[in-house]
Order: sequence, then structure tokens, then C-alpha cells
Amino acid sequence: MIVGVPKEIKNNESRVGMTPAGVFELVKNNHAVYVQSGAGEGSGFFDEDYQQVGATILNTIQEIYAISEMIVKVKEPIAEEYPLVKKGQIVFTYFHFASSEALTKAMINSGATCIAYETVEDEDGTLPLLTPMSEVAGRMAIQQGAKYLEKPKKGRGVLLGGVPGVAPGKVLVLGAGTVGIQAAKMAAGLGAHVTILDVNMKRLRYVNDVMPSHVVTEFSNEFNIRKHIKTHDLIIGGVLIKGAKAPKLISEEMLSDMRPGTVIVDVAVDQGGCIETTKPTTHEDPTYIINDVVHYCVANMPGAVPYTSTVALTNVTLPYVLKLANMGWRSACNLDKSLSKGLNIVEGEIVYKEITEAFNLEP
Ligand code: NAD
Repeated sequence: MIVGVPKEIKNNESRVGMTPAGVFELVKNNHAVYVQSGAGEGSGFFDEDYQQVGATILNTIQEIYAISEMIVKVKEPIAEEYPLVKKGQIVFTYFHFASSEALTKAMINSGATCIAYETVEDEDGTLPLLTPMSEVAGRMAIQQGAKYLEKPKKGRGVLLGGVPGVAPGKVLVLGAGTVGIQAAKMAAGLGAHVTILDVNMKRLRYVNDVMPSHVVTEFSNEFNIRKHIKTHDLIIGGVLIKGAKAPKLISEEMLSDMRPGTVIVDVAVDQGGCIETTKPTTHEDPTYIINDVVHYCVANMPGAVPYTSTVALTNVTLPYVLKLANMGWRSACNLDKSLSKGLNIVEGEIVYKEITEAFNLEP
């Protein structure tokens, strides 16, 4: 199969859909890979790196789309790319169709087959192509939180790990899912005292089993949250109710119970956030302050660490890319039920119920 890797043109997107390691595997399997010049630069992969493992470099995005039977990328196509997607082409990327009617209609009109990373689903209901980005965001939440706790950043002036003779900082993690556990692990590694809350006892049992004793689990309810926000320095929002807006666990009124300089990192901002005062921010201007509480609510946290994010993402997409290239999408999806859940639009027809429902479109 002819596989194309375009350069991402969405604002501030430095990730790339395939690393040289991915090209190596595809070429080994007798596929031809075309990479747009400069596509990997933002993630630290240069044209020569791709050429060395057998890719052909093309100068323009138009050439990549024109020659490829399958496009592998990171973000959904943006308006400039809509006319480039062609009938019969496979496009394998994050789409998030339900949030854009224009994108949905453009992909229907293209006649392409769109397989969305975010709906590939394992038998146990987990989303294997979203997990790595939650892992990145969870770990980054502590790195960012620690930075904004510094006085020049308007934080409380607390060093999370403490020093001999001074107690460590306290981190409250809301949600013990992928984000929450990775955040708790990083905070614990720095020596902070960590309290992690969830409503799912299985998650809390797991955390209790695997984490050191300075990570304390408690059930998530308003009483416990009100108690802990008074004493914790850094609060991480990592809750998710699948397919729904995040529940608001901290109201605006509760901010007055926090000490000045407390930092909130609401990772769940992409689902509306679990703090009432959360509003999305960008890497250029990541924080704002309400009631002396620093809010960090960047909606694409992994974008700040494109090397790590690209490698983490392509590690999990590559096995599916290989299956699609080796067998074509029909056979690959017939054999792999997880991958078949990624089918959103097939040759111009929506096959994913939630998208039809989102826009009242005919299935
Ligand atoms: P997950 O499903 O693995 O974990 C969510 C956890 O929240 C679950 O354990 C669930 O039981 C728990 N939960 C639900 N209701 C709760 C409540 N009332 N109190 C406490 N816990 C509750 O999800 P995840 O992969 O960890 O993702 C968390 C959020 O982070 C999602 O909204 C995701 O989209 C977002 N995210 C954001 C970024 C970013 O850049 N900002 C990056 C990756 C993920």
C-alpha cells in the first residue's frame, strides 16, 4: 500500500503521524511511504531520518494526499485539507467528528474511509489510542503544577518535595484513572504527600496496592473534597465520565476555602473541566487567577512535549497502521474488533451512531 504522512498544519501542532521506526516497519512489509518534507521536525525527526529507513520525501501536502492510499496523521484535517482527501482513501487520525459538522460533511463528501483514533476501543472498554495522551498529560500536570507553585508564578511558594526539616507539599488528585494515576505517581516520586479521590472503588484499591504509603486514597464526595482543598497546595482535575461533560467537583464559592497561591491544573478541561471556574487556555498563555487561586487549563497539554507525545502515540497506532496496510481496511477491521470500532465514515457514509445523532444526519 502507498502510505502518506503529511505535515500537521493545525495551529501549534508539532506532532507527526509516524516516526522513522514506523516507516522502517512499513518498508519492511513492502509498503511505500511518502513523508512531507519537514513533517517530523517539530518532534525532532528530520527528512534524512525518514529517508534512511526508506521513505520518499515530497515537498507539498498536495503531493502527499494525491499519491497516498492511506494517510496517517495526528489531528483532524482542517478546512485547507478538506479538498485534498479523496475517494477511496483511508484517513487514520484523531477526528473528533461530533465536535465539527463542517469536518463531518467534508469527509462524507470526500468518499474517503475515516478511521478515528479516539474511537478504537478494546474489549474492556478502554481507548488504547487515547491512553498515551492521558499518560503524558497526567505526568505533565505535576511538572506544570510544581512550576506554578513557585512565587514568581503567583503560586504559594512551596517546593513539592520539601527539604529535610520542612514538610513536603500536598497534592490532591481528583480521579484515579489514567491521568490521575500518572499524576499521583509523579507527585509521589518528587516526595509530595498525595491524596487521590475516585468514586470507583476498584480504581482506589488498585492505587492503594501499587502506590507507596504517602499516596492516600479516599472516596470522592463533596465532604472529602471540601476538607482537602483547604490544606492541599496543588489540585489536579483528572475525572471523566465517558461521553459526558466532566462533573463540577469544585464550585467557584469553594475557591475561597483554598489558601492564596493554591494551584489547580484541570486536565479534564477538554470535557468542560471539573472545576466551575475552568476555562480553556493555551500554551502561550496557560494560566489565569481567580480568588488568588492559579488555574492552569491547557486543552492540549501533550502538544508542549511533541517528541514524547509523538513517540507515545505512534507506538500504539503502528500495529493498526500495519494491519491496515497489509490487509486493507475491510479485512483488517473484520479481523480486529477494536480497530473496527474506529470506523466512523466508510466511503462517504457515516457508520458511527454518535456522529449521526450529533448532527441529526441520516445514517
Ligand atoms: P479515565 O477514564 O482513565 O479516568 C477518569 C476517572 O475519573 C475514572 O477513574 C472515574 O471513575 C473517575 N471519576 C468519575 N467521576 C468522578 C468523581 N465524581 N470524582 C472522582 N473521580 C471520578 O480518564 P483519563 O484518561 O484519565 O482522562 C481524564 C480527563 O483528562 C479526560 O477528560 C480526558 O479527555 C482529559 N485529557 C486532557 C488532556 C489535556 O491536554 N488537557 C490530555 C489527555 C486527557
